[in-house]
Amino acid sequence: MILTDTHTHLYSEAFDEDRAEMMQRAFDNNVQRMFVPAIDSTYTEAMLDLEKAYPNQVFLMTGVHPTHVKENYLDELAHVKELLAQRSFVAIGEIGIDLYWDKTLLTQQQDAFRIQIQLAKQYELPIVIHCRDAFDEVFEILEAEKSKGLFGIFHCFTGTLEQAKKAISYNMKLGIGGVVTFKNGKIDQFLNEIELKHIVLETDAPYLSPTPYRGKRNETSYIVNVVAKLAEVYQVSENEIAEITTENSKEVFGV
Ligand SMILES: [Zn+2]
Repeated sequence: MILTDTHTHLYSEAFDEDRAEMMQRAFDNNVQRMFVPAIDSTYTEAMLDLEKAYPNQVFLMTGVHPTHVKENYLDELAHVKELLAQRSFVAIGEIGIDLYWDKTLLTQQQDAFRIQIQLAKQYELPIVIHCRDAFDEVFEILEAEKSKGLFGIFHCFTGTLEQAKKAISYNMKLGIGGVVTFKNGKIDQFLNEIELKHIVLETDAPYLSPTPYRGKRNETSYIVNVVAKLAEVYQVSENEIAEITTENSKEVFGV
């Protein structure tokens, strides 16, 4: 079995004490492919170090996370452009709109999202979308920017069935992680109406631990709890979940 974590912040300070052990636990649980979203320029060096240490398992994205879009966001975007000109990345992410923490920078978040979508098109890369309390705002921009060349993942999908179908209509796969294991997570109730070909697995480590680790630090090895839950939701074997979602991740990232 080969598992793919399509969204894990392996470089997070949360792993500074035991990163090598954490990585080993992921390998021991068959996670051989880990896709690492960016947050802002302060993490670039740590991300590059991680890729150097695990060149066959770690794949990097570049981008500016919506909660890190501040007054200086154009400088941050210049950093992303510089990186894209220098070397290859597997995606532009994570990008999007987050109105949960702060609504005051909506205009800047919208602008950063739009610019980064255009970069993704230019470099023919997928996007990885972060959307929190902002479905309408995210869909508005996807509607304006939609094209054959725009595709990617709606990371940590927590919307309704209708929103899931809408995301898929914009060539997005749904990133499913710990939330599907929560008692009040809701998405487990309709997910079986969405074909598995639209689903990829993720942890969003160190955040959003699946049951039974809810509230604790999350790590990529816990993805097996998400696999177990999806096997139950779709009434298929865990092997089948692993195989299909890994294929889906290859389709998105091209590796
Ligand atoms: Zn994330």
